[in-house]
Amino acid sequence: MSTAGPAAASDQGPRAQRALEAAALALAGIALAVLVVRLVRRVDSLHAATIAGIALLAGYLLADFVSGLVHWFCDRFFEENTPIVGRLFIAPFREHHRDPLAMTRHDSLELLGNSALGMLPILAAAWWCGDSLFADGLTIAFATASIAANRFHAWAHTTDVSRTVQWLQGHRLVLPPRHHARHHRGSYTSHYCMTTGWMNACTDGLGVFTALERALRALGMPATSA
Ligand SMILES: [Zn+2]
Ligand SMILES: [Zn+2]
Repeated sequence: MSTAGPAAASDQGPRAQRALEAAALALAGIALAVLVVRLVRRVDSLHAATIAGIALLAGYLLADFVSGLVHWFCDRFFEENTPIVGRLFIAPFREHHRDPLAMTRHDSLELLGNSALGMLPILAAAWWCGDSLFADGLTIAFATASIAANRFHAWAHTTDVSRTVQWLQGHRLVLPPRHHARHHRGSYTSHYCMTTGWMNACTDGLGVFTALERALRALGMPATSA
């Protein structure tokens, strides 16, 4: 899943890849619209509205945690030249540390398309299986936040964002720049979650990724030399 990683730092990318990402973004948008309509139709009581609200919040929190999980793994394991995964998954994160502003020069398709592609199986599964109000709400919030994660991350590195974005950042509804700046200080070993950053208090406070890292290293997973 490509959720929440900095978009690849190459220029516009091959035309075929952009066409694929544009198609994925369109399909994800349609799938999300279908799920939202289904969710709204099911909310016919206060009880249903409460379940939907909890599910949406849980999906937003889950997206933040998964963004941190993917980010932590790609920062701490493998190398850019590792076969297959190196170029696809590891390099964009390492390039982001070398040049944090590069992603601010990417267009929306580069920022969103790859994550939309990763979300398609999840959206399709939710649409196919969905007879659960909670699952629909969870999927809508998780997929939306995961697709938007690179956009939220890029805003956190942009100095001249709109007033609306400043309001969202100020209320911590999207990743605030000062919060994310802590990841870029020192050795990149904290504040991995980057959709809203809400889960960093939990993952850093409880040492979740530190413990996982110790376990994976003990199992022989090749850690980064950086
Ligand atoms: Zn990082
Ligand atoms: Zn960053």
